[in-house]
Amino acid sequence: MDENFLLLLDADDTLWESALYFQRAEKDFLKVMESLGFSSAIVRDTVHRRDLERLSVTGYGAGPYMDTLVSILEEFMPEPPEWSMRALADIRTCLLGHPVVLIPGVNSTLETVGRMPVHTVVYTMGEEDHQSDKFRRSGLTHLVNELTIVSVKDSQVLAELMYGKGFVPERTILMGNSPRSDINPATELGIRTIFLKRNLTWSAEHEDFRNPELVTEIDDFSDLADIMDQFISGDIPSYSSIPTN
Ligand SMILES: [Mg+2]
Repeated sequence: MDENFLLLLDADDTLWESALYFQRAEKDFLKVMESLGFSSAIVRDTVHRRDLERLSVTGYGAGPYMDTLVSILEEFMPEPPEWSMRALADIRTCLLGHPVVLIPGVNSTLETVGRMPVHTVVYTMGEEDHQSDKFRRSGLTHLVNELTIVSVKDSQVLAELMYGKGFVPERTILMGNSPRSDINPATELGIRTIFLKRNLTWSAEHEDFRNPELVTEIDDFSDLADIMDQFISGDIPSYSSIPTN
């Protein structure tokens, strides 16, 4: 079957749970710090601030996040007791090896989409090892065409990916849970998007939609199949055919 359409799928918190495990790591870290005598509120504020600051330096990922927690521990307590360093190493192990739990409906929906003339790419950012390991453990490898891991998601990276594969915005759909990393860079290129609303989304990823006319909001991953079907049959207009006044 000719794959005339391109579907780009974010992975973390779109295909499988992710923020949940970062939140657990943070809770464990706050417990360690509380035991060492530090206020949870102050430590939490520091974690959130450093988390934003590190992005431009280290990029996204579980490893850099854990490095941030270790540096905060050492800053609050220059000679931390051995048990606390071991506890942080264990928190790292849990975060990097967290179970891959699929979002409801992912498997059956990707099976349905797999029967459509669609080239499906899992488009994710973060560390190569961690992201490809989760992809392998997700059991989704046979349901999509490929995995692309980038260090940062922006419209330039997205344009290179889409045009590099021979597709155009009029035949591309991107689905993700982050307005900042997924939706806005895509709509800037005129790509139609599906925003999967999730309860837990990292605060740095919140942003207003810049082109809301190109965004379809859904709560249920399974809605992807109908939307793709309508897009392919032309019932959902592509950007170029939306009348502009
Ligand atoms: Mg995501």
